[in-house]
Amino acid sequence: MSRATAAPIRLDGVRKEYDGGAVAVADLSLDIEAGDLVALVGPSGCGKSTVLRMVNRLLDLSAGTIYVDGDDVMGSDPVELRRRIGYCIQHIGLFPHQTIAANVATVPRLLGWSRSRVDERVEELLDLVGLDIAVHGKRYPHQLSGGQRQRVGVARALAADPVVLLMDEPFSAVDPIARGKLQEEFLRLQADVRKTIVFVTHDVDEAIRLGDKIAVLSEEAKLEQYGTPAEILRSPQTTFVSEFVGADRGVKSLSVAKVPRVGLRAAPPGEHPHVTIHATLREALSQLLDGDTGHVTILDGRDNLGVMNTEDIYTALRASSPSTGESD
Ligand code: ADP
Repeated sequence: MSRATAAPIRLDGVRKEYDGGAVAVADLSLDIEAGDLVALVGPSGCGKSTVLRMVNRLLDLSAGTIYVDGDDVMGSDPVELRRRIGYCIQHIGLFPHQTIAANVATVPRLLGWSRSRVDERVEELLDLVGLDIAVHGKRYPHQLSGGQRQRVGVARALAADPVVLLMDEPFSAVDPIARGKLQEEFLRLQADVRKTIVFVTHDVDEAIRLGDKIAVLSEEAKLEQYGTPAEILRSPQTTFVSEFVGADRGVKSLSVAKVPRVGLRAAPPGEHPHVTIHATLREALSQLLDGDTGHVTILDGRDNLGVMNTEDIYTALRASSPSTGESD
């Protein structure tokens, strides 16, 4: 897998007024670091899609500047710009009369890649998103499930190895189970390709799960808070953020803290459910509750590092986010 140097995105005093004067984005400044997945989260209509569509110049800015990879997007050729930016949306608009392989090959073909290079890339990408070229490559979009179609959308967006990936609610049209699976696979894929990604969602749980950082937006794309999921959960800076994140932010914090590696207690006799050292406290608690011994074992490969009980999980949560649950 090639590791393109991911490019930062910079928004500086960005404003968008639609014809007729509706202000969708009043004044937004945001720096997105290379290789980060930043989730733009906020209620419907707060301007998230508008922001994304200005980054790839599907929309022009009314004021301010957006830089992609150091270039001012308003000074760039839109067609050339969009080839450097992968774009993946909710209804991904696959070409219905083209096979899955042909859909994924669209941009590399436009770029004039050789047939063998295109074929190789399509196989690599379908594999990356968990589809088998022999089985799915010759099918047409209507012959796939919703979740599979979204995977093809992600593969197509990555096809020309873009420096930046923009994703607008890419998983929200599929059912919750398929959605959870897509999110998990997407995290694995991102660990591999490490693109700079802007991911729009109205679902705070999705933002917490996927984001390296989260930008919480309110009306007119006002930036309420920008930070890691743990920071946002631990110390929401405005009433809007604490209400948006939800009263259960303490519970949500379980999803952003990993099980500890040290200080675990010795396992009492008996069979306990287990999780790996990569698990979150939430997964550990869930396994513990599924079992009936009150303990969950933490495994590192084949090594049994010890067990946790509910009190240990609580202590680990406090240690990872000291002010959760306290009033700020
Ligand atoms: P979000 O993605 O957060 O749901 P949008 O960026 O789609 O929000 O929309 C932000 C605001 O801009 C909304 O009030 C919406 O009604 C308005 N808007 C979006 N597109 C247009 C348009 N083409 N013309 C006028 N207003 C628009």
